[in-house]
Amino acid sequence: MNTIATPLFNRVAFIGIGLIGSSLSRVMRRDGLAGHITVTARTQETLDTVVRLELADNVTVDPVEAVRDADLVMICTPLGAYASVAQTVGPHIKAGTIVSDVGSAKNCVFRDIAPHLADGVHLVPGHPVAGTENSGPEHGFAELFRDRFCIITPGPDADADAVARITTMWHAANMEVESMDAEHHDKVLAITSHLPQLIAYTIVDTAAQLGTDLKQEVIKYSAGGFRDFTRIAASDPTMWRDIYLENREAVLDILGRFDEDLTNLKRAIRQGDGDTMQDVFTRTRAIRRGIIDAKQHTPEDQKS
Ligand code: NAP
Repeated sequence: MNTIATPLFNRVAFIGIGLIGSSLSRVMRRDGLAGHITVTARTQETLDTVVRLELADNVTVDPVEAVRDADLVMICTPLGAYASVAQTVGPHIKAGTIVSDVGSAKNCVFRDIAPHLADGVHLVPGHPVAGTENSGPEHGFAELFRDRFCIITPGPDADADAVARITTMWHAANMEVESMDAEHHDKVLAITSHLPQLIAYTIVDTAAQLGTDLKQEVIKYSAGGFRDFTRIAASDPTMWRDIYLENREAVLDILGRFDEDLTNLKRAIRQGDGDTMQDVFTRTRAIRRGIIDAKQHTPEDQKS
């Protein structure tokens, strides 16, 4: 547990509080990072859950009220809500406030949020690279972030103190913080997250469209590898739809490369070219060992 002497932020406003926002609010509660937490979400049902779980000091359906006195505004909605949220709250955020987010694509933050912020409001986008297939505040837990990386993508003119405070916040969540350009982030995540997710959706959907008999056998023998794909493909459809809409270029680019590599493997299988397969599978095994060495191999759901 981290101990920070005074609250890092006096008043925090969460806009949207599902898996990721609620996990962060749990960290803030645990470590006293926030003097006061206000939460707004789309539905009263979610706000009722927030009250029941004691994740906030105050809840409101009015996002403008939520941000009015905040010195940190954390946007934790799906990416598709960013533009309308920023348009609504932007004019009501006071100078000196830090605005950050947890979204899985980062270029769109500069396009959808930055134009709505007044001079003197400090934008420090972030992406905690940790998650599970579950959604909603009841599924969050403070340990979600432990030993994972958080990528922050401040612009070239970002306020140094704001960047330092966001970094301290994620350190308190036991994350390692790395800073990079938003465009680079989107390329890296296209290969490490967005492509694997798309492959999982495709495989599970292919199985779903098989004839009834075969489909039942797929479920029965799912331990053969299919089961892991179904866990990934159970993730929130809205969140992932928005990721592909917002990171279109980088995903299409990496899909092109993937297509070529798949064609090569298809050819190797057709031609009985065992050497090519052996080479590819040996290279991929080394990647797995690298992930284990970097201690990034434990699924988040085993930490809850
Ligand atoms: P989630 O559990 O589905 O929660 C989304 C929250 O946003 C809910 O509180 C929802 O409110 C609120 N919301 C949706 N549309 C809104 C709107 N128009 N105005 C105000 N609030 C709105 O989502 P999550 O999994 O925490 O993901 C949140 C963000 O984190 C996404 O941008 C995602 O890319 C990023 N992220 C996710 C993961 C992951 O594994 N899940 C990992 C890293 C980053 P209601 O409940 O009232 O509808």
